[in-house]
Amino acid sequence: MSDQVAHFIGGVPVAEGATFATYDPVTGRPVRRVHEADRTVVDAAVAAARAALPAWAALPPAERAAWMRRLADAIEERFEDLVAAEIADTGKSITQTRTLDIPRGAANFRAFAEIAAQRPEQAFHLPEVLSYTVRRPLGVVAVIVPWNLPFLLATWKIGPALAAGNTVVVKPSEHTPGSVAVLAEIAASIGLPPGVLNVVHGFGPGSAGQFLVEHPGVDAVTFTGESRTGSTIMKAVADRVKPISFELGGKNAGLIFADADLDAAVEGSARSVFTNGGQVCLCTERLYVERPVFEEFTARLAERARRLTFGRPADENTTMMPMISAEHRDKVLSYYELAKNEGAEIRAGGGVPRFGDDRDGGYYVEPTVLTGLPRDSRVNREEIFGPVCHITPFDTEAEAVELANDSEYGLAATVWTSALSRAHRVAQSLEAGLVWVNTWYLRDLRTPFGGVKLSGIGREGGTHSLDFYSEPTTITIKLEPGHE
Ligand code: NAD
Repeated sequence: MSDQVAHFIGGVPVAEGATFATYDPVTGRPVRRVHEADRTVVDAAVAAARAALPAWAALPPAERAAWMRRLADAIEERFEDLVAAEIADTGKSITQTRTLDIPRGAANFRAFAEIAAQRPEQAFHLPEVLSYTVRRPLGVVAVIVPWNLPFLLATWKIGPALAAGNTVVVKPSEHTPGSVAVLAEIAASIGLPPGVLNVVHGFGPGSAGQFLVEHPGVDAVTFTGESRTGSTIMKAVADRVKPISFELGGKNAGLIFADADLDAAVEGSARSVFTNGGQVCLCTERLYVERPVFEEFTARLAERARRLTFGRPADENTTMMPMISAEHRDKVLSYYELAKNEGAEIRAGGGVPRFGDDRDGGYYVEPTVLTGLPRDSRVNREEIFGPVCHITPFDTEAEAVELANDSEYGLAATVWTSALSRAHRVAQSLEAGLVWVNTWYLRDLRTPFGGVKLSGIGREGGTHSLDFYSEPTTITIKLEPGHE
C-alpha cells in the first residue's frame, strides 16, 4: 500500500480532506499521511452504504457467506502486505502479527460465514396458530475500532455485520489505518459489490468518528475502545435510540492459588500481562496470589519480565513491543511514577529502556511488576493499558474473589488452581464476561464475548453477533382448518 491513505467509498479510493501523519512506534518517525474525513466525506460513505443495502440484504445468506469466504481467501493471498501494514502502524512483533492478528482476520470472515449460513429459524406451534421469526439486518452499521488489534478487531465486527446482511462504514483508529486500508483494496480486488464495505479515516471527537456515529443514516453502532468514549457515543446516539454494542476497557484480575501448577501460572500470567505490550483489553493488570506462594510467584514473574526482549518487529525473537504513541507512553509512565510516589515496591522495570539507536525515539517502556500498594491506589483501580501489573497477597478464597470483584470494570479474569471444585466455584463467582481457568486468551469464536459493568454492553461472538447485527420480526398466523 502507498504511504498516502485514502478513504474507501462505493468501491473506490477517495482522497479527500486534509491529511494527518501517523508515526512508527519503534522510532517515532512519521509513517503515513492519512486523509481525514469531514462531514461531506462521511455523508458520501453513509450514502454509498445505504445505496448498496437493498441488494446486499436481499442476497441469500449462502451467497453472502460465499463473499465472506472470498474475502478470507484474499486476505490469505495478501497476508504479507497485511502483516507489513500492521507492523508499520503498531510496532508489533512479526511473530505475533503472523500467528494472531492477520490469521484471525481471515478466521473472522470464515467463522461468521458458517454461523450465518447455518442459523436455524425458530417456529412455534399452538393449536391453529403458527408463530415464527424472520431476521432482518439493522441497515447501515458504523464500526469504530481502536489501535491495539487493528485488523483483528475490525474484522471481528465487519464479518458478522456483513454476513447478517448489513452494509458497513468502518472508522479505524487514527493511529492504525493501514491494515483496514489494505482490506479495502482486497474488497475492491475481489469485486465485493461497491458500497457494501466503506472505510473513512480520522479522529474521534469533532472528526470522522463523531460525524459517523451521529449520522442520521447510520442505523447502529458497534464500538470497541475506552469506556469513557463508549459513554460519549452512547449519549450521541441516545436521541435516535440506535442499537449499540460496546466492548470497552478492563482492569482484569488474575487469581493464583497455592495449589496451582506454579510454572504454568507464572508463564501464563506473564503472557497475560505483557502480550502486545499489555495493550490488549484482556490483559491482566491486577494479580492476587495466595500467601504461601506469593514471594516465589512474584520473584519468578519479575524475572520473566526482565527476560522479555525488545528486538525490532522483524526479529522473530522479539517479545516486547512499544506503546502505540508518545501520548500513550507518557500515560503509562505517569502510572509508573504514581506507583513510586504511592510507595510501591518495583520488582521489575519501572522506567524506559535505552538502546543507543533509533529506537530511543520510539515509544518503549519497561515491563513492570509492582507490589505493596493499597487496594484503593489509582494504579490498582484504573486501566493503564501497558506492560504492568500489581501483585497483592491473599489468605482465603473468599478474600481473593472479593478483591477481584472490587473493580468498576468486569471484562476478563483468570484463575490458576489444580482444584476442580474451586475452579468452577471461583469462576462462577467472578464478575466478568470472560473467565479463563489455567489458561488465558484462548477463544472459540462461537462463544459470547464482552464485559460487565464499565467493560461493555452486549455480547458478540457466534450467534450473539448475529443477534446484534439483525433484528427479529415475529410473524403469527392463524391457521383455520378447511380455509385457504
Ligand atoms: P478510544 O476510545 O480512544 O478510541 C477507539 C476508537 O474510537 C478510535 O477509532 C477513535 O478515533 C474513536 N473515537 C474516539 N472518540 C470518539 C467519539 N467521540 N465518537 C466516535 N468515535 C470516537 O480507545 P483506544 O485508545 O483506541 O483503545 C484502547 C481502549 O480500547 C482501551 O480502553 C481498551 O481496554 C479498549 N479495548 C477494549 C476491547 C474489548 O473487547 N473490550 C478490545 C480492545 C480494546
